Amino acid sequence: MEFPKCPHCKNGVLIPFSSGKAFSEGTYPITYDIWTCTNDECQYHIYCRGTKAIYAKGEEE
Ligand SMILES: [Zn+2]
Repeated sequence: MEFPKCPHCKNGVLIPFSSGKAFSEGTYPITYDIWTCTNDECQYHIYCRGTKAIYAKGEEE
């Protein structure tokens, strides 16, 4: 499985984590809903909730 490159730092890749709630939010089952950059200095991460994706970086949000 290939992971997408981080759009923020362009060094790390985004690794999916399952939140454990992936199948509890209705009609759009998703296996993974949190993606985190592997670059420790970057901390870019994406939350996916159903069909919506929320992009976040560092300690914002
Ligand atoms: Zn990054």
